[in-house]
Amino acid sequence: MAKISEPAVGIDLGTTYSCVGVFQHGKVEIIANDQGNRTTPSYVAFTDTERLIGDAAKSQVARNPNNTVFDAKRLIGRRFNESSVQSDMKHWPFRIVEDAGKPKIQVEYKAEVKTFFAEEVSSMVLTKMKETAEAYLGKTVKNAVVTVPAYFNDSQRQATKDAGRIAGLNVMRIISEPTAAAIAYGLDKKSDTTEKIVLIFDLGGGMFNVSVLVIEEGIFEVKSTAGDTHLGGEDFDNRMVEFFTEEFERKYKKDLTTNKRSLRRLRTACERAKRTLSSGAQASIEIDSLFEGIDFFRTITRARFDELNDDLFRSTMEPVEKALSDAKLAKNEIDEVVLVGGSTRIPKIQSLLRDFFNGKELNKSINPDEAVAYGAAVQAAILAGDKSEEVKDLLLLDVVPFSLGIEMVGGVFNVLIKRNSTIPTKQHYNITTYSDNQPGVLIQVYEGERSMAAQNNLLGEFELTGIPPAQRGVPQIEVTFDIDANGILNVSAVDSSTGKENKITITNDKGRLSKEEIERMVAEAEKYEEEDEKQRDRVTAKNNLETYVYEMKSIVDKCKEVTDWLDQNQTAEKNEFDHQQKELEKICMAVMTKLYQQAGGAPGGGMPGGMPGGGAPWWR
Ligand code: AMP
Repeated sequence: MAKISEPAVGIDLGTTYSCVGVFQHGKVEIIANDQGNRTTPSYVAFTDTERLIGDAAKSQVARNPNNTVFDAKRLIGRRFNESSVQSDMKHWPFRIVEDAGKPKIQVEYKAEVKTFFAEEVSSMVLTKMKETAEAYLGKTVKNAVVTVPAYFNDSQRQATKDAGRIAGLNVMRIISEPTAAAIAYGLDKKSDTTEKIVLIFDLGGGMFNVSVLVIEEGIFEVKSTAGDTHLGGEDFDNRMVEFFTEEFERKYKKDLTTNKRSLRRLRTACERAKRTLSSGAQASIEIDSLFEGIDFFRTITRARFDELNDDLFRSTMEPVEKALSDAKLAKNEIDEVVLVGGSTRIPKIQSLLRDFFNGKELNKSINPDEAVAYGAAVQAAILAGDKSEEVKDLLLLDVVPFSLGIEMVGGVFNVLIKRNSTIPTKQHYNITTYSDNQPGVLIQVYEGERSMAAQNNLLGEFELTGIPPAQRGVPQIEVTFDIDANGILNVSAVDSSTGKENKITITNDKGRLSKEEIERMVAEAEKYEEEDEKQRDRVTAKNNLETYVYEMKSIVDKCKEVTDWLDQNQTAEKNEFDHQQKELEKICMAVMTKLYQQAGGAPGGGMPGGMPGGGAPWWR
C-alpha cells in the first residue's frame, strides 16, 4: 500500500483570531471550524463546569469576563515586570499574577483557582485549530507551521514553539506573519520572473506590521519590517466604546464602565457595528437593558467612526515610512501594496494608504484574514515534502527583527547580526581578555538597537572559563552567533588561542519553560482534553434524554387526551373511533420519525441493523 503522508497544516496564531489552512490537491484550503467560521477567536474560557475554546469562549465573555482569557499572545515569552505586560494588565478583565518572574493568568475553573502560563493558553487555542483541521481531514494532525509577528524576539518565538508542543504539535517551523502573507501573495504571481518589490500592510486585531519584501522567481526576501505591537482593530473598537460610554454618562448620569458585563456587551456590539461600517455608511447598536435596566439603541455613521479614530488611522502611515527608509526605497519603487489583517477592510485605512502611494491600486486579492494561514499552509507543504508544481520552486528567506550582539568593555553594545539580516545566518566575532591572567570571560547576549548594552534586551549570558594564563589581549576567543531557519539563536564561544574548543549554548533564562514544566503541561493538556470530552458527552447525553422525554411526553399527553375522550364517548360511531386512532398514530409516527432522524438515521432510507422488524419501524 502506498505510504499515506502525514498532513502538515499552517496555523496563524493571532492575537484576537486564529486561522488554519492546509495545502492539498494543488491549492490551499482554509478550514472552517465546528461553527462554520474560517477564523476562530483566540479565546479560552473557564466556567464552573467546563473549558471552552474559540467561538464558544468568546460568545460567553459578557457573562464570564474574569475567567475568559484572550490576548495570550501579548504575554507569551515575556517577563512579568516588562512594561508592556504591566500596562496591558491594567486593561484585562482577568487577573495576572507573577510566578518565578513570569506572568501567569489566574482564573476560577470548576470552583477552584487555577493559574496558567501564556504558553498553556496559546496551546489550548492551537489544540482547537488542530482539532478543526483533524475534523476536516479525517486524520490526526501533528505537523504544523505556526506564524508569529515579525517583532517577536527569540524568547517569544521559543515560547510559541513550546505552546505547539504542549498542544501535541510538531512545530516544523516558526515563520513571521508578513513572510507568510508574502508566500500567499507570491504564489499567485509565481509566473513573474522580474523582481517585484512588495509592501505588506498587516493591520489585525491587536498588532500592526509593515514589511517590505523583494520577490524574485519564487524567492522572497524581507528587506525591512516596522510596526506597532499595540495597534489594531481592538483600539478602534475601544474608541467607539469610549464614545458611547461618555454619551451614556452625559445622558443618564451613570457610569456603565463600573459594570464589566455591560462594558463587554457594549464592546461586542461596537465591534459588530465597526464591521458593518466597512461596507455601509451607517450601523446601529441595539442592546436591551445595557446598564441598570436602561435599553441602549443608537446609530453611528462611518464619518463619525473615522473621526473617532482619525489619529490612530493616520498613525499607521509612520511605520510605512519607516519600513521604506530602512529598506532604502522610495515609495514609487514599490510595485505592489498588499493588504493583510481584518482591519484593512476599513475604507479610510485603504484610502490613506492609497493616497500615500499616490493613488496606487491596493492589492486585495488575498482574503485579509486568511492570508497568513494561507502562506503558512504553503510553507508547511514545502517542509512536508510536497512536490506539486505550485510550491516546487519556492524558497524562503526571513529576517532578524532586532540587531543581536554582545556587551563589550564599558557597556558598549557590539552588534554581530544586524537587524533585518536574512536568516538563517551565522556570524563570528573575536574577543579577548582585558586583564592579565584573566581566567574567563562573561558573554552577555543582547537584542536591540541602542548603543549601550544595558538599554537593550538581555537574552542570556554565559561564562567561558579555563582560559590559560596569558597577558591581556593575547587570548583569542571566537564568538559565534548562529540563527537557524526558525529565527532561534544559538551562541557559542571558542578559545582559539589554545586551539581548544569549548562549545557553550545559551540557556535562555528569559522565562522559557523547562522541559519538566512542558512535560507536565502536556500531561495537563491531555487531562483537560479528556475533561472537555467528558463534559461534551455528558451534555450531549443530557440533551438527548431531555429531547426524548419531551417528545415522548407529547405521545403521553395525546394518549391521555384520547383516554379522556374514550371515557366520555363510549357509544361513539366506528368512524369516530377510527379518527381518534389515526390522530394518535399520526403523533406517534411523527415523534418516532423525528427521534430516529435526530439519532442520525437517514430519512426514507434503511433502518439501522439490530432493529426488530427488519426494515419496518418497530413501533408499528
Ligand atoms: P485579524 O487578527 O487579522 O483576524 O483581524 C481581526 C480584526 O479585524 C478584529 O479587530 C476585527 O474586528 C477586524 N475586522 C474584521 N473584519 C472587519 C471589517 N469588515 N471591518 C473592520 N474591521 C474588521
